[in-house]
Amino acid sequence: MNPIKTVAVLTSGGDAPGMNAAVRAVVRTGIYNGLKMLGINKGYEGLLNGDIEEMNLRSVGDIIQRGGTILQTARSNEFNTKAGLEKAVSMAKVFGIDALVVIGGDGSFRGAKDLSELGMNVIGIPGTIDNDISCTDYTLGYDTAMNTVLDAIDKIRDTSYSHERCSVLEVMGRKAGWIAINCGIAGGAEAIILPEKEFDIDKDIIMPIVEGRNRGKKHYLVIVAEGVGGAVEIAEYIEAKTEITTRATILGYIQRGGTPTITDRVMGSRFGACAIKCLLEGRKNRIVAIRDNKLVDIDIIEALSMKKTIDNELITLSKILAL
Ligand code: ATP
Repeated sequence: MNPIKTVAVLTSGGDAPGMNAAVRAVVRTGIYNGLKMLGINKGYEGLLNGDIEEMNLRSVGDIIQRGGTILQTARSNEFNTKAGLEKAVSMAKVFGIDALVVIGGDGSFRGAKDLSELGMNVIGIPGTIDNDISCTDYTLGYDTAMNTVLDAIDKIRDTSYSHERCSVLEVMGRKAGWIAINCGIAGGAEAIILPEKEFDIDKDIIMPIVEGRNRGKKHYLVIVAEGVGGAVEIAEYIEAKTEITTRATILGYIQRGGTPTITDRVMGSRFGACAIKCLLEGRKNRIVAIRDNKLVDIDIIEALSMKKTIDNELITLSKILAL
């Protein structure tokens, strides 16, 4: 007999398109397998406050196509303290929660690991647009965010071409340049500046622009990841050095929203079902992940100790294709 009868689900950290697909899959596969399903509103904050309600099959109707998260999300400082953690565990007992599914990023998984050390059964589902969770090749929201960025790049290119300008576009990615490198390649950027790599503004930005101009280019695109920042200053520097009119655009939160792409809906559905499967098969304190195109689950401590590095082949490719 599986001792897990009641499972709660929450979304935590930054919202990401595809989180709703994951919530829906967790709830529906849970109910399909005879579990009682609870939804916790506003992440760990809701767990602390007992902002918890039972979910039925209809609670998750009409949400797969919606961005954001119907459960809402929050960043909770109280949860991050010893007293907060103990309060969370005691609230979980009040509601009879046998296992908790956490959909979020690295920080949310560290919180889940702390809960597991106090005896709670937890499963993590990677949900963050940055794709910066080491144990998985894919995180929910990444594909939708990249398509949003690419749409913006295409629009900016139209005006850049018409005015023979340079555009500097800042995209999300505090510690990871996955959005920047892929959108830079897909959008035909002359230079892509990533948080993972030191850069020299003259060598890595001015040089490709000037060389491109000498070969006949008339407009230019520079992608800067949020973690590097300084898009406005970089644009001013380019204009001063090259006399090419240069404009900076910071895309910001537009990258978080929007209708999830098919990839995010299917991945959310698969991750959600996999989380329930883990619990039914007695595997606890795991992170659900996709590696080499296979759904897997990894021990939460091992998952949090992994490191992910940016793909150097993509960096080389981006430089060749910018010629
Ligand atoms: P994103 O990548 O979108 O920012 P995230 O899950 O990393 O998502 P955080 O704000 O880092 O977002 O974490 C969400 C919540 O998880 C925090 O508000 C906090 O309550 C909890 N948390 C974060 N870091 C830790 C930690 N080191 N230990 C325990 N709990 C944590």
